[in-house]
Amino acid sequence: MIDTYKHKGLRKILVRTIKEKGIKDERVLKAIEKIPRHFFVEKYSDEIAYADKALKIDAGQTISQPYTVAYQSELLHIQPGDKVLEIGTGSGYQTAILLELGATVYTIERQEMLYKKTTAFLPTLGYNPHFFLGDGSNGIPEHAPYNKIIVTAGAPIVPETLLKQLTIGGLLVIPVGDEHVQKMTTVLRISETDYEKIELDQFRFVPLIGDKAW
Ligand code: SAM
Repeated sequence: MIDTYKHKGLRKILVRTIKEKGIKDERVLKAIEKIPRHFFVEKYSDEIAYADKALKIDAGQTISQPYTVAYQSELLHIQPGDKVLEIGTGSGYQTAILLELGATVYTIERQEMLYKKTTAFLPTLGYNPHFFLGDGSNGIPEHAPYNKIIVTAGAPIVPETLLKQLTIGGLLVIPVGDEHVQKMTTVLRISETDYEKIELDQFRFVPLIGDKAW
């Protein structure tokens, strides 16, 4: 795996593209400019690896479109030291972004093949989240609370159990909808019992499959 000037150039173009689509957070853009996405999607050409498109990965899953990764990352407002739960490790690309933003990351994936791949691969790039295999729709209560929770698959509802695993002031970012289209949804935990929910733009994710999901 090598990262050449050509790859760096393609990343600059990608950053320009997602900036034009509305991403403003300079730290997020910097992380995208730094992380070699072509390492995460080795079977594709460099041009496809750096197109602003979701791509198929193993186990019938996808690496999200860079714009979508940036959109969710921007919404999270990660502060260095934030404890973040990521549900749906997938290729590990979003995980790498969260780590670049200074978070401590707990990431869970239900597909064993992807779990095995990312646990072997991410540390080779110096990315060391806490990896878990299983159904993340229940969160990971034994490590809660989290400052931020990001769900990278489409859910039918906002699972109550995830809300309970947020700190007060903590934020959940989750796509919610049917199997065709989901609205990006943020839920801020205001107090022990109060939450503020906001629905944003529409996206299309692979389904969140599990106990509190499809
Ligand atoms: N952010 C990821 C990336 O950059 O590659 C995108 C991952 S993909 C869009 C969503 C992932 O969520 C898939 O790998 C899928 O297997 C996983 N997933 C679906 N339901 C899950 C669940 N209940 N718990 C954990 N992972 C789940």
